[in-house]
Amino acid sequence: MYIVPEAMIADLVSREASFEAVEQVFAAMAAKDAYNFPVVREAIGHEDALYGFKGGFDRVGGALGLKAGGYWPHNLEKRGLINHQSTVFLFDPDTGKVRAMVGGNLLTALRTAAASSVSIKHLARADAKVMGMVGAGHQATFQLRAALEQRSFEKVIGWNYHPEMLPNIEKVAKEAGVPFEAVDLPGMAEADVIISITSAFAPSLMADHVSPGTHLACMGTDTKGKQEVEAALLARAKVFTDEVAQSISIGEAQHAVAAGLITESDVIEIGAVINGTHPGRTSDDDITLFDGTGVGLQDLAVASKVVELAIERGVAVEVDF
Ligand code: NAD
Repeated sequence: MYIVPEAMIADLVSREASFEAVEQVFAAMAAKDAYNFPVVREAIGHEDALYGFKGGFDRVGGALGLKAGGYWPHNLEKRGLINHQSTVFLFDPDTGKVRAMVGGNLLTALRTAAASSVSIKHLARADAKVMGMVGAGHQATFQLRAALEQRSFEKVIGWNYHPEMLPNIEKVAKEAGVPFEAVDLPGMAEADVIISITSAFAPSLMADHVSPGTHLACMGTDTKGKQEVEAALLARAKVFTDEVAQSISIGEAQHAVAAGLITESDVIEIGAVINGTHPGRTSDDDITLFDGTGVGLQDLAVASKVVELAIERGVAVEVDF
């Protein structure tokens, strides 16, 4: 088997490669060539940690496996480690033999940023100029960096529940040569594209904070009970997702569905837009909303790419296992 340690990942995989891998696997999911297994996520009663498994099988890409890991909230302060910890395991679909073990921390950020970027590519207006950010934590920086590559953005506006964190995203905007402005939530009405990536359990962004024609990527809600935007916004929007089952149970759509504002059949897999079987945005006034819940197949797709590159460059650690 091959081992690709966490420290090698940054030099191996680019944002472009992550984007391509995620776009392809979303397309495969909608074509029913790939599917995710039910997610296991447990509060283990130790170190306040959440631990679980996300897995799946991509028949076309040949990726079979899982990501194991989760969130240890005290890692940083107690041990100087990042709070999110995960590892991807890939298996040979022909034999079941383990094929690779790959560090999953940076890959998680890259594949999550790739998901919102894929949604921007396929759903945002071509003339989008103002990029809005709700959130300024660890993932937000990756999200913004990738999003800025999708359109000719002229300005980034940002709001965060903890305003002292805003310099994190201001730095990314400046590095990309785009001016940054901190706004209040009603100020988000200026945005053509909005990414929300927070760990909130109550909505910040309300339906009347969003203008017609906007594309939103709601990326923070990946657990039952979390919520970033008002449920009424989903009723105003055309709603897309990575996977419908997750969207309505652990994603942003869980609240709108529970409130009877939308039904499961209103939520469309983004892969259908990529494959051309759903038209996606049909008017410049549509509000489109991508509910990015994070699926195991995204992890397997980027991890497979990393293994391929590591073997190609002769840096994968080979172990007789
Ligand atoms: P982080 O701890 O670095 O940042 C948290 C962000 O949430 C900050 O902007 C913080 O100000 C904001 N926040 C905290 N409490 C809030 C509140 N009550 N109201 C509004 N905002 C609040 O976390 P991170 O690593 O950037 O992750 C952000 C979220 O993204 C988490 O919920 C995580 O589970 C989720 N996530 C989703 C995916 C996916 O595939 N969809 C992947 C990775 C992480």
